[in-house]
Amino acid sequence: MKLPEVHILRLGYRLVRDERISTHLGLVGRAFGAKKIYFSPAEPSVKLSVDKVTNRWGGEFEVVLLERWKPLVKEWQSSGGIVVHLTMYGIEIEKAINEISASMKRLLVVVGGAKVPGEIYRLSDFNVAVTNQPHSEVAALAVFLDRFHGGKELKQKFGSEKLRIKSSPRGRVVIARANAIK
Ligand code: SAM
Repeated sequence: MKLPEVHILRLGYRLVRDERISTHLGLVGRAFGAKKIYFSPAEPSVKLSVDKVTNRWGGEFEVVLLERWKPLVKEWQSSGGIVVHLTMYGIEIEKAINEISASMKRLLVVVGGAKVPGEIYRLSDFNVAVTNQPHSEVAALAVFLDRFHGGKELKQKFGSEKLRIKSSPRGRVVIARANAIK
């Protein structure tokens, strides 16, 4: 099953660094069907943590460290992709999601931290709210990706994993590929 191409941009303007939240954005992106996350500014320790998970649990999720985010946004749009900025001030996801999906374009989903540069509201093709209440970039990203992929991402296969979980009603069943974990 091939999902539409989605990348994520984590904007950390006046970043109060919170490595756990940034790491969770990478893990949620990977688990919910995105192919790449950009961290701007660069967060090297977060890249290490997310890469480690991908190495063990499979798939081809990529983490890219960026000093400047604007060239990415402009290049994304000039090469035919669309940019969706998640913000509590945007239009309701229920109103925007059909138009976004129907565009059939590559998607760059932007999530902020404590503050985002004001320009992102203007540069984005869509400012989308997952409710108009303040909550978390991790929750907003998960709900958006699930709505965008229509739940298909829950069935994605990762491939080349060293560890795989066998679903179980109780307890933990983990299958390790022979000689995969050193
Ligand atoms: N004032 C911010 C805003 O514009 O949504 C809330 C800051 S929140 C700590 C950090 C990030 O979480 C935001 O930049 C946004 O990407 C995401 N976020 C929080 N609440 C959201 C919501 N209701 N809808 C969409 N995104 C949200």
